[in-house]
Amino acid sequence: MRIDTQAVHAGDRKKAGPEIPVTTPIHAAVSYFHESMEELDRVFAGEQPGYCYTRFANPTTAALEELVTALENGHGTLACASGMSAIHIALLAALAGRPRSILAAEALYGATIVVLTKVFAPLGIRTTFVDICDLGAVERAVAQAQPGCVLLETISNPLLRVAQLDRVAEMARAAGAAVVVDNTFATPVLVRPLELGANLVVHSVTKFLAGHGDVLGGTVTSDAAHYETLRTLARAYGPVLGPFESYLTMRGIKTLVLRIQRQCANARRIAEWLNAHPALQRVYFPGDPAHPDAATIRRLLPEGLYGALVSFELKGAGRAEVFRFMDRLKLVVRATSLGDVHSLMMYPAMSSHREVAPEQRARMGIRDNLLRLSAGIEALPDLLADLAQALG
Ligand SMILES: *Cc1c(COP(=O)(O)O)cnc(C)c1O
Repeated sequence: MRIDTQAVHAGDRKKAGPEIPVTTPIHAAVSYFHESMEELDRVFAGEQPGYCYTRFANPTTAALEELVTALENGHGTLACASGMSAIHIALLAALAGRPRSILAAEALYGATIVVLTKVFAPLGIRTTFVDICDLGAVERAVAQAQPGCVLLETISNPLLRVAQLDRVAEMARAAGAAVVVDNTFATPVLVRPLELGANLVVHSVTKFLAGHGDVLGGTVTSDAAHYETLRTLARAYGPVLGPFESYLTMRGIKTLVLRIQRQCANARRIAEWLNAHPALQRVYFPGDPAHPDAATIRRLLPEGLYGALVSFELKGAGRAEVFRFMDRLKLVVRATSLGDVHSLMMYPAMSSHREVAPEQRARMGIRDNLLRLSAGIEALPDLLADLAQALG
């Protein structure tokens, strides 16, 4: 089945009684009892499918998990309370029984860098950072760091680099390391990392998957080898998504493909328009033929779908000029987050990469004049008019 069809059918329409609801109800109950204690005992033991306690599994959340598993073509999914809890538990599942060493892309979401350097490092899990787009550097780093896990983003934040995920996964597999991919920016509409050799795929569903700015959530979709570990960890540590958020996320995913197509088309036209604007120093967009990873993008991304994000540098601007520009926006919402139906403008130095030391930010190429736009589904002329008046 195509992803457009899966998005509106997978997970839903389970027979619960004589009739079948067209969407999965919100099951708010925390506990479940069965005909007999013997049966409940078998459910607790995992010998019989069923529900007993919502930290273990919940019918609404299970429907969402089945849906995301279909979209990512995985073995199973764990829905989590946030993207960050999803990344955290995916890394723990990847490292189970492997060396406590992570090889991570240099370009990562700011809070992910904090997990690696401030949460994992004091526990004795060390991280080596590498330019994941440089395969020679990755090969050397794998040999040197002997990682138990390799971590990268499909499209990096905020400079929108695209690594050769399949080649990186090959190197990791040869070294016995598991591959964790944060697929938030690409979504399964653009790339399905498990099909390219990843073991665990993470989403901040807060972004494109839920898509309406009203859910905080995450998912980890796993291959068969890591799924039991992931579930065991989740039972013990309990980072699960609640049934209301699960319902909203499923509702959001129904239109995922339509939204992505429109958002990618808007982003592409905005990038072209910005490229020609005299107030701009530089535009970062994966659809740009001069993009440093253009060959990889042609190989791994579908024609015409390059994501909804455009980053750009304002000529000669510092924090004050950036703030003035953002304050002038009337339609584009100046808030953190991305992937929503409404367009969003964000200042990485102030939000996603605030916790990253300024020197490290500079090394990552995240300058004080860099902005990131997430294109929504609005009419393009309205978006261009708003950007034009704000650029002055
Ligand atoms: C937002 C984001 C996260 C964190 O997700 P939350 O839902 O905010 O916890 C992780 N990775 C990427 C790429 C993100 O954009």
